[in-house]
Amino acid sequence: MKRNRPSGSQQRKIKKRKNWRRSLFSSGESDVDEGNASRSLHQQDSDDDDDDDGEEEEETFRLSVYSDVAAWPVPVPDDLRVDLIKRGSEPFQNRDGPFSPVERQGEKSKGKSQQLTTAWFYKALPNGEKILRTWMVYSPLKQSLFCFCCRLFAVDDKVTVASSFVTGFQLWWKLNPKVSDHEDSEQHLTCLEKWKTLRAGLKLQKCLDRVNQTTVDREKRKWRDILHRLLDVTLFLAHQNLPFRGHRETMSSANKGNFELVELLSNYDPILKEHFMRLKHAVASGKRMTSYFSPKIQNKLICLLGNHVKEKIVADIKKAKYFGILFDSTPDVSHTDQMCEVIRYVHIEGDHVEVKESFLGFFPVAEKTAAELTENILQHLEEDGLDISLCRG
Ligand SMILES: [Zn+2]
Repeated sequence: MKRNRPSGSQQRKIKKRKNWRRSLFSSGESDVDEGNASRSLHQQDSDDDDDDDGEEEEETFRLSVYSDVAAWPVPVPDDLRVDLIKRGSEPFQNRDGPFSPVERQGEKSKGKSQQLTTAWFYKALPNGEKILRTWMVYSPLKQSLFCFCCRLFAVDDKVTVASSFVTGFQLWWKLNPKVSDHEDSEQHLTCLEKWKTLRAGLKLQKCLDRVNQTTVDREKRKWRDILHRLLDVTLFLAHQNLPFRGHRETMSSANKGNFELVELLSNYDPILKEHFMRLKHAVASGKRMTSYFSPKIQNKLICLLGNHVKEKIVADIKKAKYFGILFDSTPDVSHTDQMCEVIRYVHIEGDHVEVKESFLGFFPVAEKTAAELTENILQHLEEDGLDISLCRG
């Protein structure tokens, strides 16, 4: 789903996040244009759609941050730190490897390579018992060892940079005594305490970060609720075969088309009512705010729901195994031949047996030769995951 773009502190957070991305990927991507209040809400949504590359990059960034310790920004922002502590160090440990060998430098042992082993993730106690070093995390990205808590609370200063467990430790032949040295260092013990305290606080939901977290959760829930209503309206209009758009869809337009049903619902639904009030307020004060009402978003919702329905139908057809096909074309207003794809199959549910004909979609046909038509049909069946050898009749 698309990301939200609320105003104020949220926007500053997004800007901050973009800066981490820039430092990680050196993409040189331009920042969000926070001004230009004269644009309509729908134009703003359209702008978001044009930012697909940015979204993809953000997704890549999110994936790396949540899978590899080396991708964390320094310092780790508060909201991300809370998220990472909630996940715990275990997903970042990679303690079963694979670990990359590193060639040892120096005259004596030149050419000899050494490797980290899983055994280093366990500390042997004097009584012979072995306990897991929860702080130790391995980054496949940087092929180095890091300290989970020291990295979490690292700040961009000289002390931090001096610690190899914050910048990445790779000298495997120095694991002894570097690991135990780090474990006993004052800096590590301070970070360890901070980590444990914050983790305990989050579990008890009593710390300040929890207040922020509750706000984030509330925001998430609000947007999900709004999206739920928009999807319901989309389903209703699609089911009734009604057009979505009017002549003009800006907030000031007198007739925004049938999608205006959302505005009607806002008279009775408190969530939509609040959303509309905020939108109107944002427009009046010249601020940017995501509405989720633009024609592009409407098309995206239709497309997502359409694909979901199609997946269900195809699954049903596959369950029936054998099927028949009906393909027929007719020209549209632009004189392009539109081929319609209908599949006939037997649907069995309990004792109820029914022969169903399901429409899977249209596709334009350029050539009308038998060879071209056959190729088109076979190609579309294959794209839908239907095996032509199971076609009967
Ligand atoms: Zn540490």
